[in-house]
Amino acid sequence: CGIVGYVGRTLDGRALEVVMEGLARLEYRGYDSAGVALVGPAADGSAPPVAVAKRAGKLANLRSELENHPLAPATTAIGHTRWATHGGPTDENAHPHLGGPDGRLALIHNGIIENFHALKQQLLADGVTFRSETDTEVAAHLVARAFDTTGDLTAAMLEVVAHLEGAFTLLAVHADAPGVVVGARRNSPLVVGLGEGENFLGSDVAAFIGHTREAMELGQDQVVTITPDAVSVVGFDGTPAEGRRYHVDWDAAA
Ligand code: GLU
Repeated sequence: CGIVGYVGRTLDGRALEVVMEGLARLEYRGYDSAGVALVGPAADGSAPPVAVAKRAGKLANLRSELENHPLAPATTAIGHTRWATHGGPTDENAHPHLGGPDGRLALIHNGIIENFHALKQQLLADGVTFRSETDTEVAAHLVARAFDTTGDLTAAMLEVVAHLEGAFTLLAVHADAPGVVVGARRNSPLVVGLGEGENFLGSDVAAFIGHTREAMELGQDQVVTITPDAVSVVGFDGTPAEGRRYHVDWDAAA
């Protein structure tokens, strides 16, 4: 339902703060669960696994979970408020969903993956273990698998969206690609917030309006990759593309 992504340079609490604030600003859309995922690197430069916190119910439930079990500071974060379509509103079905046997990828999703059932049967036949009842989790496993063969999160996302039907905004982070968030959109909105030494993604500008008013709207069937210093966009066919840049005025943010 609501999506926020953030990547910056400082290894402090900012990534989590930005994402929690964005989720609060997206609360007006309605939701039944909320969650976040953070990726390193750790202070010693190593890449720890993706850290996830997620809870059914209001953001307050997620906040108290984060108070009881604080996550280590990270440079990169994604956050989601869910409006359940496939699988009830439980902690397990809340996003982010982990992909891969060791859960080194985390993914969030707005919308519905119409062909998830066939994709899930194939993954189950391949021995993949599912942790939720959502349509979303197939995308998490598929992107994790594609990352293992390509070693590149953008290439992995491009490979997977070619097999997905329906409406989706997807954001993914991977423990082995700290400092990168990759997003994709089809029939569902995704906007980039352009910062200095940091960049943002949101299902609408409310997600990052407290931090930047320079925005870039993605076109249909595009994949975007953000790092602290760069934003790059390609079509689902892999050809370079440009989003539409604009300045968000106060009225639009109200
Ligand atoms: N279809 C997904 C689910 O049920 C995403 C729902 C949403 O847009 O929040 O988990």
